[in-house]
This record gives sequence, structure tokens and C-alpha cells, in this order.
Amino acid sequence: MNLSDQLSLTAKDNLSKPAYIFNGEETNYQTLEGSVTKFASSLKALGYKKGDHIGLVVGNTPHFVIGLYGALRLGLTVIPINPIYTADEISYIVNNGDVKGIITLDVLFEKFEKMSESIPDVKNYIVGETKPDSSFESSPLKEKTYSFTELVQKGSLELERPVLNDDDTAVILYTSGTTGKPKGAMLTHKNIFSNAKDTAEYLNINANDRVIAALPMFHVFCLTVALNAPLVNGATVLIVPQFSPEAVFKITREHQATVFAGVPTMYNYLLQYPNEDEKDFSNIRLCISGGASMPVALLEKFEQHFDVQISEGYGLSEASPVTCFNPLDRPRQAGSIGKSIINVENKVVDENGNELPPGQVGELIVRGPNVMKGYYKMPEETQASIKDGWLYTGDMAQTDEEGYFYIVDRKKDLILVGGYNVYPREVEEVLYSHEQISEVAVIGEPDEDLGEAVVAFVVCNDENVTEDDLNELCKTKLAKYKIPKKIEFLEELPKNTTGKILRRSLRDQLSS
Ligand code: AMP
Repeated sequence: MNLSDQLSLTAKDNLSKPAYIFNGEETNYQTLEGSVTKFASSLKALGYKKGDHIGLVVGNTPHFVIGLYGALRLGLTVIPINPIYTADEISYIVNNGDVKGIITLDVLFEKFEKMSESIPDVKNYIVGETKPDSSFESSPLKEKTYSFTELVQKGSLELERPVLNDDDTAVILYTSGTTGKPKGAMLTHKNIFSNAKDTAEYLNINANDRVIAALPMFHVFCLTVALNAPLVNGATVLIVPQFSPEAVFKITREHQATVFAGVPTMYNYLLQYPNEDEKDFSNIRLCISGGASMPVALLEKFEQHFDVQISEGYGLSEASPVTCFNPLDRPRQAGSIGKSIINVENKVVDENGNELPPGQVGELIVRGPNVMKGYYKMPEETQASIKDGWLYTGDMAQTDEEGYFYIVDRKKDLILVGGYNVYPREVEEVLYSHEQISEVAVIGEPDEDLGEAVVAFVVCNDENVTEDDLNELCKTKLAKYKIPKKIEFLEELPKNTTGKILRRSLRDQLSS
């Protein structure tokens, strides 16, 4: 089975049910299914065939859904790209990923008009209209450009579908990576379909759900958890074009949302939102957190304020992404990423790949139908990350006796102070426990005497709180070598478009 064929089956059973709601407008499964086939047939008419690569550079709009499923239906490999990337970042991915066509939006098209010479192999641009007066008549790329709306309208419902094999590459996700150039994780039809299905089953995402998609769709967390998992099961996706607490509360209220998926920073923004009258999550049955560790203090404050349960999970692009979640049938374990989801195995190993007993910290490795085929055109990197069928995540973790997993930190974020290991998360959790602290990131700074020293960046809601106050708090809870040598107060921490805190920029900030 694959996502495209599953959509056809789901649509058959849910013809008039809304598949997604965007800007207050409902699109039912029958219409979506028809648009997907028509878009696929138009792509075929343009000369695309199974195995071709197509870039999907759109924000959270219906074009993403139709573009993704339409291209998959024709057997194309889709490369979703962050629309706010610079021309250099986009051209690297487009050229490295052998992209033949780009699906984008009118509001983003100028970027491609300016950079088209740097991506000479792109033969067409398919541009989605978001404004009533969109026209490409005077564009320098006019000859290569097609209207997304017209391709959907004029496409045929008669399409000879290619056979999609389990191991054919469906999607390539370029992961940001902390060093070197981004790598393209090749996810097969089996990878993305199984992970959407298994995650939905584990979290009981079903036809009665209305799932908020406020994370960026090009990111695998949204792609699998808030888009594919609901569509596999006949649920409704509530598309939020751009995350803001106002937008999330509004869509929750107007469309009776039942599931929200976000990264911890989003939970923080929702909690801090000042307009108490609008802060209503009473209809939400499940909040899903992932993408970065959820500080325990934030989790508890959020659950208490909104009277909802947050289930934290864990994943990475290379695993489509979900490997663990807190089970729904038991109280969640704060600070834990939960247990292995259906069909996926997780274990913690030492440097030689031997499994470690509960309580010992080692690298988390993963095996299952969700694990990528490899990195596109990077056999050495693939070999280094997949050994004997196990994906080495680069995250340090431990388990407990009951099989819950706990992420300690990224392997490369570990700080070595005078020979002692300091995991930033431990220090961050202590600082987060301060009532007035809303964001924290801890990194290592080169230190002449100790090798590295701990530095903390905090966002504090009270200007009377001093570095000494925070040091006092740390002293009561942490061994001396873990106490930050320096605490810097910032207005806001740097984050990527998914909302993950960018420790790399903080490191650059320190060294400049
Ligand atoms: P990405 O490939 O962009 O989805 O990033 C994957 C990385 O996000 C993982 O390797 C982890 O370092 C981090 N991550 C995801 N979920 C969690 C979590 N619940 N706790 C801690 N780190 C997480």
C-alpha cells in the first residue's frame, strides 16, 4: 500500500467529508481525490514520468496537499523545500536532488525568476495562485510556467496509474544537518505510508478527528503526523498557513479541532498568550509534542492550564519520522519520549553497538519499515548511519525498566567540562523550572582551563531576575561543574521555521 492508493480508498468511504479546511473553506475527500488525479494527469501531459524528481516549494496551503499526492500518484519523487530558504540553499537542493520541475506559489515566484539561471535543469514551474490577479504573462520564465489551478481544472480523471513499489523513493527530505551540506534522506512509499498508518493507530487518530496542521508542511513532523496520518484515516486536516497562538485558538474554536501537533516552542507561545478569553483547548483531546525535548516544567504548566494531555514523541527525518510516543492508555511519563510505536524497534547501545541496560546512557538506534533507504547520492554517509539495518540517530538516550525512552541530548551537543559530561538538557530543565523563564538553551564555550564551560541563554519575563538568582537556583540542583559560567539574557532565542531552537547560531554569537 502507498499514500496515493490509500487516499483513493479513504475517499471512497468518506466522499462528502472534509479532507481539509483552509481559510474557512471545506474541501471534501471526493474533490481532493479528483484534484489529485487531475493534477497527476496534467503532470503526465507535461512529460513527467515515474521516477522524475519534483520540488515542492509552497507554504501551508492546499497546493501542498494536491501537489504532494498528485506527484506521488504519478510515481514522481517529491522534494519538499522550505519556502523561506535563500536562493543559494534552494539551488543546492534543486541541483543536488536532480529536480526537473518546481511547484511553487505566485508569492514566491519572484525568487525563482531571479535565481533560474542557477538551476538550469528545471524545465517547468507550476505556480499556485493565492491572489486573484496572478499572472505570469510578463514573467521572464513565461515559456516554462504553468498555472497550478489550470492544471488541476484541465486535467483528466482517466489516469493510467504506474505501479508504485514499496522500495521506490517517494520523498527526499533534505535535513538541515549541523555540519556540512544538507543530506537528502530518501523515504520510500513503504516508509512514509507505514509511519503515517502506525502513528495514527498508536495515537488513535481516526475519522472523527480534526487535526491542526500549524507546523510547516515541508517538515516531516507535520507531513506525517498532521497531514498523512489524518488523511490515511478519513480525518479532517485544519490547515493553518502560519503558526500564531491567535490562529491556532481561532481554528480550534471555529472548527472544533480535536488534535494539536507542535514543537515545544509553540506550546510555550500558546501558554504565554495574554488573551485568556481566547485560550480554549477544551475540545482538544490530544496534544502531540515532538521535534525537540519538551521541558518538564512547560509540559506540566500547559497541561494544568488547558486541562489536556500532552503526549511527547520522538522522531527524525531519516525515520519518516516517528519512532516513539507516550502511549495514550497510560499516564504519560513527563520528560520521556514514550515507547516504541507499532512495528518500530528502538534500543540504546554503547560505542560497539551492544544494547545497554535501563538507566545507562548510549546512542539511540532504530529499526523498522519507517527507516529510510539512504541518503541520496551519498553512499558513505548512508553506510555510516545505517548499520545492520539499524539507523544510528546521533541522539543520546536511556530507557527505564518499563520500556520508556528518555532523550538525554544530541551526541554532538554534549559539553565536556574538565572531563565531565554535561548534557545541556539537564541544565535547561533546572532553569526552566524558574517561574519567570520562558525559553532556555545551554551550550558549551571553549575554556582554557576546563576545555569547555557551560553557557546558558535565557528569555526571562521579569527584568528583576538576575544572573545571581538563576545561579542560586542551579546551585541547589546541579553539581558544581554543571553550573553555567555565564548566563545571557535575550529577548528571544533564535529558531528555525519549525520552531526548533538554533544552538548553532548561539555558538556563532559567542564566538563573534
Ligand atoms: P528532524 O530530522 O529535523 O526531524 O530532526 C530530528 C532531531 O530532532 C532528532 O534527531 C532529535 O535530535 C530531535 N528531536 C526530535 N524529537 C525530539 C524529542 N522529543 N526530544 C528531544 N529531541 C528530539
